[in-house]
Amino acid sequence: MARPLREELDALKQQSLLRRLREIESQPGTHMEYAGRHLINFSSNDYLGLAGEPFLCEAAKQAIDTYGVGATASRLVCGTLTPHMLLEQKLAEFKRAEAALSFSSGYATALGTLGALAGKGDVIILDKLAHASLIDGARLSGATLRVFPHNDLEKLESHLQWARETHPEARVVVVTESVFSMDGDRAPLAEIVQIKERYEALLLLDEAHAVGVVGPNGRGLAERLGLSGRVDIQMGTLSKALGVSGGYVCGSRELIDWLLNRARSFVYSTAPPAALAAAALASLEFMESAAGEARRKMLWNNLKVLAAGLPPGLTPEKLQSAIVPVMLGEESAALEASKLFFERGFFVPAIRYPTVARGTARLRLTLSAAHLPEEIEAVTQVLWELGNPGSLSGFGER
Ligand SMILES: *Cc1c(COP(=O)(O)O)cnc(C)c1O
Repeated sequence: MARPLREELDALKQQSLLRRLREIESQPGTHMEYAGRHLINFSSNDYLGLAGEPFLCEAAKQAIDTYGVGATASRLVCGTLTPHMLLEQKLAEFKRAEAALSFSSGYATALGTLGALAGKGDVIILDKLAHASLIDGARLSGATLRVFPHNDLEKLESHLQWARETHPEARVVVVTESVFSMDGDRAPLAEIVQIKERYEALLLLDEAHAVGVVGPNGRGLAERLGLSGRVDIQMGTLSKALGVSGGYVCGSRELIDWLLNRARSFVYSTAPPAALAAAALASLEFMESAAGEARRKMLWNNLKVLAAGLPPGLTPEKLQSAIVPVMLGEESAALEASKLFFERGFFVPAIRYPTVARGTARLRLTLSAAHLPEEIEAVTQVLWELGNPGSLSGFGER
């Protein structure tokens, strides 16, 4: 007989790996009502504080009035509405690409895109810390997979050499992120682009945590480094700094035409509601405005306030994104630390296996442009308290 699920759940609980849902009873923003408490939220990916922004809500409401709630069919049948087309035009322009395609989520984007680009006989080479959606997409594609240690260019190159020697005719796709979701650091993109070009491989760059945060108008790391034209597949999500929901790919017209024919998560799924496309379009327009640029600057100012107040040994020399991991190692230590923050009035979640490798449990603290400097100073106080010898196990290696 198969092992009962109850036993498996109990095992998770014993290892401090059991998860549960938390019901938040307030609007998106830096303050939240949860478990009868008022907390300051340092956990969301709403880096610019846009998810509850009235002008985005208004754009969605207007689109509902015009187009209704449901899109009624897949994009290829009768689900493509004007807001989808406008959003994709704007996405291409924003990412300095020829064309763009939007999906119902970033997860669906990764699955559909990798599955359409690579198959049996092809090779996908991933950074070890690539997001689960990219790993799942790579696995589902049926391609041969190779993983290189995080940001290790030598190993990446030796995988590429191997791929070219053993699979001379294959499509080879290198997959990495511009800002890593659980570590907050960046990929050495300029070097990766040079290497992949030498081996005539394609590069898929997931800008999920860079768009809105990094580069002029928040266009991402590729644009920050002047490399947009050399990244074959620019992927991202509409659900983080952009404050809405959905995912996208930008690239050549050929790439987009191929994906809309072959990406299964695009073809075989009902189109996302027009209201989301309309809100995402409004969000992109905001990014390009002076007000959007000012909002992004506020986020970076907040990051400076945080960096100035952090205990020593806690962070990298320089914050590279809105994501600040506090490494704790043991899963139970991360849970305990998260509890301390809760008691002090902050929501800072513990990140555990399988989101990160076993023994690398951490707190993942994220900043928003909407945090007040005094809130940031207050949260750093708790980090000092946490780092004090005797309280918990202290900070591990980063
Ligand atoms: C969040 C995330 C995704 C998935 O995007 P969703 O829109 O949330 O489905 C994909 N890649 C990375 C790196 C992410 O952090």
